[in-house]
Order: sequence, then C-alpha cells, then structure tokens
Amino acid sequence: MPLSPAKPLLIEARKKKYAIPAFNVNNLEILKAVMAAAVKEKSPIILQTSEGAIHYAGMEYLIAMIRVAANSPIPVVMHLDHGKDLPLIKRAIESGYTSVMFDGSSLPYDENVAKTKHVVEWARKHAVSVEAEIGALKGMEDLVDVKAKDAALTNPDEAARFAQETDCDSLAIAIGTAHGAFKFKGKTHLDIERLEKISKLVDLPLVLHGASGVLEDVLALAEHHGAKLGKARGVLDEDITEAIKHGIAKINIDTDLRLAFTAGIREAVADMPKVIDPRELLAPASHLITEVAVRKIKMFGSMNRA
Ligand SMILES: [Zn+2]
Repeated sequence: MPLSPAKPLLIEARKKKYAIPAFNVNNLEILKAVMAAAVKEKSPIILQTSEGAIHYAGMEYLIAMIRVAANSPIPVVMHLDHGKDLPLIKRAIESGYTSVMFDGSSLPYDENVAKTKHVVEWARKHAVSVEAEIGALKGMEDLVDVKAKDAALTNPDEAARFAQETDCDSLAIAIGTAHGAFKFKGKTHLDIERLEKISKLVDLPLVLHGASGVLEDVLALAEHHGAKLGKARGVLDEDITEAIKHGIAKINIDTDLRLAFTAGIREAVADMPKVIDPRELLAPASHLITEVAVRKIKMFGSMNRA
C-alpha cells in the first residue's frame, strides 16, 4: 500500500474510541520491530521521526526505509514528530511524509497560530495532515507547585479557539504528561476532567505526548543489567484507557521503546560475551521492542482495525 495520510485514520479512531500508536523510529531495528508488532496485531501504525532522528539517520534513509515498510497489509503513516524548523517541515512535506507536526507550543499564542496556519497551507497542497500543539509539556521541575502545573496544562477554551483559527487536523494537548523517562516520582494521574472539557469543545482527534508507561518488567530487566534509572515510573495504563474514551486518538511512544531497546542490548552484551556479530547482539533488543509495541497496541485498542 502507499503511505496513508493520518487524518482519515485518526478521525476513524476517535469515532470508534481507540488510539493509533505513533512509534518513534530512528534505525532499521526499531522500525522493523514495531512493524512486526503492527502487522501481527493488524493495527494501523504511525511511524514518526523527530528532528533528532533526522539529524541522526538522515531524512532520505528514513524515508527509504519507511516506504519499504509501507509495502504491507496495514495502513502506515510517515509522520514528522515535533517539527519546529519551517524549512525542514517543508522539505518533509515535499519529500513524501504524509503527516507533519508543527510544534509551536513554546511560542506566544498568536505566533503559534500564524505559523501553524502557514504549515497547514503548505501541507494541504500535498494532501499531508497536520498535527499542531497547544499548551506546554513541561519537565518535572516545572510542575512542582499546583499553580505552575495548572498554567502548564491546556486551557479548553483556548484549545477550541486554536483549532478553529488554524484548521489543523489533530491537536496535541497537555493534560499532565511530560517527555522523557524519569519524570514522575511514583505514579502520575492525567487530568481526565480537563480532557473531557477539551474533547467537548474540540471535535478533532487529540494527541497525547509523553505518555510512556515505563513498563515495570522492562525497567527491571534494564536495572538487572546495571542501568541506573532511578525510581520513576510513567503514566498509568488505566489513565491511558480513560483518555482514549475521551478523544485521544494518537499516542506517541518513544521512551518505552528506548528503554526496551537498551535493556535488550544490555542483556545481550552480558549474556553473550563471546558474540561479535552485531546482528546477534541486537536481536534480543528487537524482540523486546516488538513485545512492548504489541502491549501498547492492545492497550490502545487498535488491533484488528487495519
Ligand atoms: Zn512529544
């Protein structure tokens, strides 16, 4: 199949109350491992590359690999994650990405609206979908007191105005998640009440960033092999399930894949001291990623939706 645009898949997901997994990919192993999971579970999949992944692997390499991945029986979206650099976003749109995010969340409101509209205009010409972001996803240090936390979360009325003014296709919102692995002391709870309000006012597929669950067994495996990852955990599974009932239709997964990949590498290096073939050392990491991706797909309810 050719690569799919994100918009119709996400609208369908929001309507039927499941979420499409958006996995961050930056090399062949991760790409093949998440594809194996999506094909096995018959789930649509969004393969997303950050600007960091593009700097690491090169846009042409990533596009070539993802185009090959799209030769499969499931819908595959190629998405630019957290695009901030307008020339890079334009290059992605013209090079075959079927979806791009413009992340203007750190800009003043009016500037975010203006730049998002600009990206939407480019994207429409190429039938590319646009994810925009409102509200800031902050690190733990920014969320210490309650007032600061409220200010960092998405305001429902502002979200509605933003969606209308920009005409974006999906909207990333801040309801209590944060990027990275080690942000929460103990478990966190998403602001589901706020999400309900946003969902009533914004009739678009909503996107959740920073929603890694930091799976206990993967973390334990990593720590068993000497990783120093601290006590932090991620978002609760039941919060994710609840969020999907209220309009979240795309969930980004990056940290959980990184944890699985590095845990698998640590285990292989420790268990196979005589092996010098990188393919053998990377195989357990790939299997672990497939396992994590299957669990996410089941949690998001996107299996058998392809
Ligand atoms: Zn993100």
